[in-house]
Amino acid sequence: MGDLPTDDHHRQRMERKKAVVDAAIARATDERGLLLVLTGNGKGKSSSAFGMAARALGYGMPIAVAQFIKSRRDTGEEAFFRDLPGVAWHVLGEGFTWETQNRARDIETAQKGWSVARALLADANNRLVILDELTYLLRYGYLDADDVLADIAARPPSQHVVVTGRSAPSSLIALADTVTEMRDVKHAFRAGIKAQEGIDL
Ligand code: ATP
Ligand code: MG
Repeated sequence: MGDLPTDDHHRQRMERKKAVVDAAIARATDERGLLLVLTGNGKGKSSSAFGMAARALGYGMPIAVAQFIKSRRDTGEEAFFRDLPGVAWHVLGEGFTWETQNRARDIETAQKGWSVARALLADANNRLVILDELTYLLRYGYLDADDVLADIAARPPSQHVVVTGRSAPSSLIALADTVTEMRDVKHAFRAGIKAQEGIDL
């Protein structure tokens, strides 16, 4: 019983904590477009990005999404966001040749896709640009990481960018302002459960 904090102790501790948090908030006065990276093997990267898409749209901020996916698949996020006002939605990876392993064609597909993404980044009307699953194009060397990072760095100063995908290269992490690594603790798939609508797609 003697080890439990009294109401008084608790109140004093919370007051000290609040002072520290308030001081940190007072120090954070800068405002600019951020680069966020959501990486790691755990679930939640793309769905977190689309959560920010919803937030931005809630403030009336126009958004652009580029999905560098391996194969076309209907997703809940595309059905929900695609035709909303203020949303530009591009699926850019449809031509990847994972089965035939035609590397030259993959590089061409990636570069065509990146030219679309580059135009989205150059447009200051896009207040948030999501580059979903971009990391594997860097990983496989389909795109030159230096070129991609230069295009991201050259975006309008107030534009936010979110990059998702496993194995983000360290150069991308170095450039980013906020980086989260999703850690895979458990996933239903490994218990034999197939991808669920509304949760996984
Ligand atoms: P989500 O889109 O659900 O946020 P994600 O973007 O973090 O997932 P991806 O690597 O893009 O993950 O994979 C997308 C699909 O793979 C989703 O259906 C997701 O549930 C599933 N998935 C993600 N992580 C794992 C994992 N560790 N094991 C098995 N399946 C996974
Ligand atoms: Mg994803």
